[in-house]
Amino acid sequence: MSDLLNVEAIFGEYVFNMGKMKERLPKKAYAEVKRVMETGGELSLATADVVAKAMKDWAVEMGATHYTHWFQPLTGITAEKQDAFVTNPDEDGKMIMEFSGKELIKGEADASSFPSGGLRSTFEARGYTVWDCTSPAFVKKDATGAVLCIPTAFCSYKGEALDKKTPLLRSMEAVGEQALRIVKLFGNTEATKVEPSVGIEQEYFLVDRKKYLQRKDLIYAGRTLFGAPAPKGQEMEDHYYGAIRERVGAYMKDINIELWELGVTAKTQHNEVAPAQHELAPIYATANLAVDQNQLVMEVMKKVAERHGMMCLLHEKPFAGVNGSGKHNNWSLVTDNGVNMLDPGETPNENIQFLLVLACMMKAVDKHADLLRQSASDVGNDHRLGANEAPPAIISMFVGEQLEDVIRQLVETGEAKDCLEGGKLETGVSTLSDVAKDATDRNRTSPFAFTGNKFEFRMVGSADSVASANTTINAMVAEVFCEAADILEAADDFDMAVHNLIKEYMTKYSRIIFNGNGYSKEWEKEAERRGLPNIKSMVDAVETLTTDKAKDLFGKFHIFTETELESRAEVLYETYSKSVNIEALTMIDMATKQFVPAAIKYTKALADTVIAVDAAGVEPVVQMEMLKDTQEYLNETKEALKKLIEVHSKAVKITDEKDKAFYFKDMVMPAMENLRKPVDKLEMLVDKEVWPMPSYGDLMFEI
Ligand code: ADP
Ligand code: MG
Repeated sequence: MSDLLNVEAIFGEYVFNMGKMKERLPKKAYAEVKRVMETGGELSLATADVVAKAMKDWAVEMGATHYTHWFQPLTGITAEKQDAFVTNPDEDGKMIMEFSGKELIKGEADASSFPSGGLRSTFEARGYTVWDCTSPAFVKKDATGAVLCIPTAFCSYKGEALDKKTPLLRSMEAVGEQALRIVKLFGNTEATKVEPSVGIEQEYFLVDRKKYLQRKDLIYAGRTLFGAPAPKGQEMEDHYYGAIRERVGAYMKDINIELWELGVTAKTQHNEVAPAQHELAPIYATANLAVDQNQLVMEVMKKVAERHGMMCLLHEKPFAGVNGSGKHNNWSLVTDNGVNMLDPGETPNENIQFLLVLACMMKAVDKHADLLRQSASDVGNDHRLGANEAPPAIISMFVGEQLEDVIRQLVETGEAKDCLEGGKLETGVSTLSDVAKDATDRNRTSPFAFTGNKFEFRMVGSADSVASANTTINAMVAEVFCEAADILEAADDFDMAVHNLIKEYMTKYSRIIFNGNGYSKEWEKEAERRGLPNIKSMVDAVETLTTDKAKDLFGKFHIFTETELESRAEVLYETYSKSVNIEALTMIDMATKQFVPAAIKYTKALADTVIAVDAAGVEPVVQMEMLKDTQEYLNETKEALKKLIEVHSKAVKITDEKDKAFYFKDMVMPAMENLRKPVDKLEMLVDKEVWPMPSYGDLMFEI
């Protein structure tokens, strides 16, 4: 069949991967690149020139006319400034496409229009992008042409990180170095490198593009700011894992193809809990590559949706009343000789290295729960965390029955003699074969859950970059590994020392373990009793970045300087205010120009009917009642609108970024909620023909 899809042939077709380098580079150059990728260091300019030429030749063959340094500024999305390969023509007017090693390795850009939180003033505008050779270059091809994208880090003139990638790379080195000390202590002499592996499950919503374009809230804010609930929500539980409809399936097929071509191992796809909600997960990869690829996933999802007459909503809470979207960040640590440090094996109670890693994880998560919470906060996620479907804003760790039992034994007796086994699954049906059960059940309510051989951090928002979350996890684990390695390397009796350390950490930090229902009210109380932080919003979380604890942690491993942390805090406050400002303005716009006029039109129609029916000699009971109700909600709308305009105008005058962000959260947000209420009531009352935009039902069910 000619329409057979040859996945093996298209996979990585648009990526300048190791295979292509091997094929196209002289042996010596290839070896040098490989060495730098594996052990770090700098590429010589001569080799960089050779690589650049090969890369350009390949890209041109793929149709590329431009190249760009592709980076991740603090906006959370990617940025690119494209340059054509064109050069000055010679005296005959002939032009030869060129790309040099210098251009490959380093780019220079005006950084002044990217958020920097005061790191550079406009007169120090220079920013540099530097090639991250561990994430392969790729060609992005669409209707706008083809561009060679070179993944880079983005720094200021003084070397301060202006992006999400630089700290991530620094944190990977930190955790890798400290983890290597741990595996060496346990006799793994072959390992020369440890790297975090990350697998990201990405949730998203799809809506019809024509309907989307009729909603200013979706256009400007990415989420609905108004909307009465549809008659049906997610209560029938019929969407999760439901059969994928053809329109959606055709879209999924196309994103898979694009992602495979870009070397992204798109693997799992399914319908999610809310109507019109779906998920995609690639196979895990080294952290920086996984972060880059997740950016590509989001970009491809949005682009391909438009081709299918749809829009992909990545906002954390596009619709009130149904589930929002998140990103599950699966994290583990793997040595270059193939050992996953988070793999407990069959009998975790006997796996001392694993128990030490687990004890260290407990300490890290407990000590830096605030930072972990911060790393997953963004404006949209405030509507999700703590709501009933998402993990709560409180950080805790789920380890499952088996490990909980092992921890209990270790804490109580200093020894874990046995461990619970999974056993056989009994279905009670003789024709179904017996299968082995996992030792642990799943727990979807935990923000930080051990899931077999990795931790799954479930707090991250669907629109957010996963760079911050991974930077934080790497950093906090590096710190505790370092403390543990310091003690163990100095110990006379290693076995005794490690035994004591595991017991000490597991005892001291057991309050972080929680295997129950994280969505319950009781847990909130229990967590408070345990002294676990419950940081409710993004703005409340910002100051965790500038505590002495945070400065010590990030400073010790050269992940963030104090100035970088302070600048990031500033950017977060700014981002919050700017986003809520857009939402407030959008609501004011929609209410003033769309809802109020629609309601006025409707009251006029009702009033006309009342008069006409009355004149005909019949009492217009229903019409009168509806007219009164509509008028009442219209009055409420106008009042709430006035109030929103008033607090908004105060908010924008505040100059201190922190004060401003808090004002937006405490004053503007509630005023927005109060405007939404009467408008949603009006929507339920006013003739659908008159209502100026598609409803929740139209958006979520009629796609
Ligand atoms: P779930 O059942 O939790 O929805 P999925 O199959 O949707 O899981 O996604 C799990 C993700 O975790 C995938 O991206 C997968 O590749 C990744 N993963 C699996 N093992 C590891 C590991 N050891 N380290 C990091 N990520 C992993
Ligand atoms: Mg999943």
